Amino acid sequence: MNEDLGYDDFKNVDVKDKIILRLSGYPGHDDTTSVAYQKINPDGNLSSWRLRLSKNEDASERGVAAIIEVNVSGIGWAGLSTGSLIAGYWADNIPFRYNSRMYEGTDPTPTPYGGGRMRLPGNEISGNPTSVTISNRVLNSLRDGSGIDPKKFAATVKKTMKPASAEVSGKKVRIKTSVDSRIVKVRNVVGIIPGKDTNNIIVVGGHYDHMGIKDGYIWNGADDNASGTVGAMTIAKAFMATGVKPEKTLVFAAWTAEEKGLIGSKYFAQHPYNDCNMLAYLNYDMISRDDSNDSLGVICSMNYTKAHPEFEEMTNKHNEEYELGLDIQYRAQERPSGGSDHSSFAREDVPIMYFEAGFPVEYHQPDDHVDKVNWDKMVKIIKIGYLNIWELANSEWGKE
Ligand SMILES: [Zn+2]
Repeated sequence: MNEDLGYDDFKNVDVKDKIILRLSGYPGHDDTTSVAYQKINPDGNLSSWRLRLSKNEDASERGVAAIIEVNVSGIGWAGLSTGSLIAGYWADNIPFRYNSRMYEGTDPTPTPYGGGRMRLPGNEISGNPTSVTISNRVLNSLRDGSGIDPKKFAATVKKTMKPASAEVSGKKVRIKTSVDSRIVKVRNVVGIIPGKDTNNIIVVGGHYDHMGIKDGYIWNGADDNASGTVGAMTIAKAFMATGVKPEKTLVFAAWTAEEKGLIGSKYFAQHPYNDCNMLAYLNYDMISRDDSNDSLGVICSMNYTKAHPEFEEMTNKHNEEYELGLDIQYRAQERPSGGSDHSSFAREDVPIMYFEAGFPVEYHQPDDHVDKVNWDKMVKIIKIGYLNIWELANSEWGKE
């Protein structure tokens, strides 16, 4: 379902409590010249894991019992650019252990995103439909005699952009699954500068986890998100260096398990320090890189809670007063959402501002390395954050 395009694969089919057969990717993902590709992914930066996540959520909301996925094109893409279409990128079948007799793929799941699903303990165990990926051989026996032809379906839809989902009758599929759950203990790292008012707090943070190690590669994550944690710590250091006790209390945090579903920040936002009243949250995630269209290295973005236009005003003011020269692109939303820790706070109705510098091609790749950091821009973004937090902490702002 894509609301902007009015494209909905679930139109006219009732999938509640049913098993769906789903194709990997999106219409036209294997053909950059197709009508569908041009409409759905004109900039070529739709990331495959984000797409899969939203497809799973969509299926879950509609009450799908299980998902059988198949990659009929044989082509996937790594994440961001049109140049990275890769034959055989998606494993043909993922449900069984690699190197087992049931597994027909040539490689194990190729990215470190596989892992287990994670959530805070106490939340529901289930909710997401079970999902398996099958090979084309298994698909052939499944569609045999059913009259459906997924390859033809994919070819038509990428030209017409008209979904044609249909019910397959007379087929039975049995999926056996088991859940092995365990509690993993992780920690946020939190520091506090008590203010004169200890009931009202302002939180500054960024996540310190990243993608881990796989196949001998280390996802160091210089931009995502060493840059953001350095930002939060630098603001804390600057506040201490002034020797001034702030009016309001400041909390500085490095969040854990952001990449696993914003888990550390979600926990804090739901159980704030000492049950304090959270006045605002400033988030840093990826504040050190340039987009491909940012030849001067000065563009960054700030998302913020729409009800607080003063966040944009003070950011502009500080950018000018201190001659920082940043080209800041603002995006105001009633309750900012998205893939970073700010949305944990926005969900609890805490006003947020969220700085991001750019979206590099090395996003979530092992070569997100420190040599590519734009230090000048990063320092400027940290300066603005410091000035904004200083103003919020030491002014009448937020007082009843
Ligand atoms: Zn991040």
